[in-house]
Amino acid sequence: MRSESIRASRPVERREEAGPRESQCVGRPVLRLGDRDPVDRHGAEERQQVSRPRSRHVGVDDQHRPLVHDRKRRGDRFALSLSRIVHDVGSVLGRERPGAARVRFGHEDRRPHDSGSRENPAEHRVRDVGALCLRELEAPLCGGSAEGDDDARHGGDTTQVSTPRDPQNAEIAAKLDAFATLLELADANSYSVRAYRRAADVLRDSAVPVAELVRTGRIREVRGVGPGIEARLRELVETGDLHELKELEERVSPDLVGVGRMLGLSAKRSMDIAQTLGVRTLDELREAASQGRLREVPGIGPKSEQKLRAALAQDLSRPPAHALLLNRALALTNEIAESLGAQPAGDARRFRDRCEQLAVVAPPQEPADAIRRFEELPQIVALVEREDRRAVGVTVEGVPVELLVPEPGKAGAGLIRATGAAPYVEALEPLPDGGDELEVFGALGIPWCPPELREEPFRGEPPPLVDLPDIRGDLHCHTTWSDGRGTVEEMAQAAIERGYEYLAICDHTVAVSVVPGLDADAVRRQGEEIAAANERLAPFRILRGIECDIRADATLDLPDDVLAELDWVMASVHAGQRGSRDELTKRTVEAMYHPSVSAISHPTGRLIDRRPPNALDLDTAFAVALETGTALETNGLPDRLDLKDEHVRQAIEAGIPIVVSTDAHSTRGLGNIVLALGTARRGWATAADVVNARPLEAILASRKPGLLDR
Ligand SMILES: [Zn+2]
Ligand SMILES: [Zn+2]
Repeated sequence: MRSESIRASRPVERREEAGPRESQCVGRPVLRLGDRDPVDRHGAEERQQVSRPRSRHVGVDDQHRPLVHDRKRRGDRFALSLSRIVHDVGSVLGRERPGAARVRFGHEDRRPHDSGSRENPAEHRVRDVGALCLRELEAPLCGGSAEGDDDARHGGDTTQVSTPRDPQNAEIAAKLDAFATLLELADANSYSVRAYRRAADVLRDSAVPVAELVRTGRIREVRGVGPGIEARLRELVETGDLHELKELEERVSPDLVGVGRMLGLSAKRSMDIAQTLGVRTLDELREAASQGRLREVPGIGPKSEQKLRAALAQDLSRPPAHALLLNRALALTNEIAESLGAQPAGDARRFRDRCEQLAVVAPPQEPADAIRRFEELPQIVALVEREDRRAVGVTVEGVPVELLVPEPGKAGAGLIRATGAAPYVEALEPLPDGGDELEVFGALGIPWCPPELREEPFRGEPPPLVDLPDIRGDLHCHTTWSDGRGTVEEMAQAAIERGYEYLAICDHTVAVSVVPGLDADAVRRQGEEIAAANERLAPFRILRGIECDIRADATLDLPDDVLAELDWVMASVHAGQRGSRDELTKRTVEAMYHPSVSAISHPTGRLIDRRPPNALDLDTAFAVALETGTALETNGLPDRLDLKDEHVRQAIEAGIPIVVSTDAHSTRGLGNIVLALGTARRGWATAADVVNARPLEAILASRKPGLLDR
């Protein structure tokens, strides 16, 4: 039973390899029904968008409990929006856990120019960096990779039982994670980095005390634990620490690594520079460069020196080459804003799928003080620019974050400029003063615009975008029956806590092969478990669903009679993403013609920054979705967000309903609804466009959501 629970909770590998370049044009114009202006269309609905851009209620939930929203508020259709979503993200994040020391990274070696009021430096020692802090730096909010790895790094919410002096599983896992992060900074081979992360994930969720497994010599039975990891676990259990971890912390200079990444240097090169030249900060690096000392570093010849000096001379606040996934960017922006009492802005406030420009806007105050506090934040490893009312810091990933401290009375314009995409903002200029956004929009004589729509110039009345209270259930999640980490009942409980009316369990089918999948027999056995859980949980309803693989020959991976028994069928292409346009289109379209298939999951199969969208012909897919009444998903896994924003918009304009779902592989994964929702909002979706904004009866009323409202 013990090994069973360990096995059941193991993380999964991504099942699909990123293909070589196969980016075909898939985002072409779609058929439009009457070519109506979406704003006009939505304007016909009479709900009101109420904006409260000022009230930034960012909550910290130590229990990192999922959001429980109040169904009673559904009636009044209160809006919105970022403040609310950010609030939710804050609670989903669950940072600031009890006992999580938020310790500054590398601070003691910072240049001393921020005169005075230095806090106790002991508080900032590198070696004190708690693993939780590292984990925050690495992977806040539900991880980031698809298919089960989504929140694999975020255990710690289960209480482990073991003898008092043994390190708890969560502590052990945290140390392994910290080790992995520093190995990564040190450019160790990625295989071992992944191995440590994976072991950390498995051990964190082990129902059995890891210390006991180590002592009894059974630890190697745990998947992913080889001799190397076993040796480190033994050391951890016996001494409570890892000497290599300490050594690495001394060797790696996270702030220089952060700056180095921004300059295009590998972490290893940054560390070579740190070691050879004895520099730890950007200023010291600049000084060493101006003294011509860079050539002392092994591997830096005249050419690289020249390049590096040129990079150092540039404006360092330019967008980085590497963007952050939305979950990470949101978390980072939100954490920083919260610490400073500032407002989140930048790309994350618009819920872009890849965020390059991170920004927060501080309340009007003494700017020097705000900048000092910004510089001391654990997320900021170095300050790369400093002006009177503006500073740019850099994270350990090398991503610049801008802090703006507007003058009194100009906060509204500051926030609008720091939030919108350039074309949107430029079209509004010159912006009048105003203490908040509402004042500025008011003075401009145009309605307040939800941040997600601030891309292209727009002065009109925005549609009543779908919002969290509209969402009545999640129609795509996994359980321990396939590669999920929660049981049917655990997932359902979590959905109830979120205020949902229903949850569709959509585990994989066998064709997926790399992870466990359900055959007909298993689907029926799962059905019995679901029926029993439904009796206990009524009136909440667990829907018997499936994420049915669309096989290479375009057939579905379960017999028709089994599919017909189910309440909700999602169909997905997993293998063969590199197939031709014809193949992928045929597979997707034939699945839509199947009478039991209600929606197509992650239709384009993209993995952000890792795999381009597949060659699916979206025009054809939209036409057949419309014809058959099949819905399309916008998947909330942070590296999928598929359909993406513009495709959501095209689908909606074509009249195709959208499923806004998380593809959660754990209870925490359900929190990614904000990512799917943000994506749908960027696609101008209203509640009327979203299948899971419908009541349960409507979900059960038709296998083809698109046929219902006709
Ligand atoms: Zn899938
Ligand atoms: Zn899935």
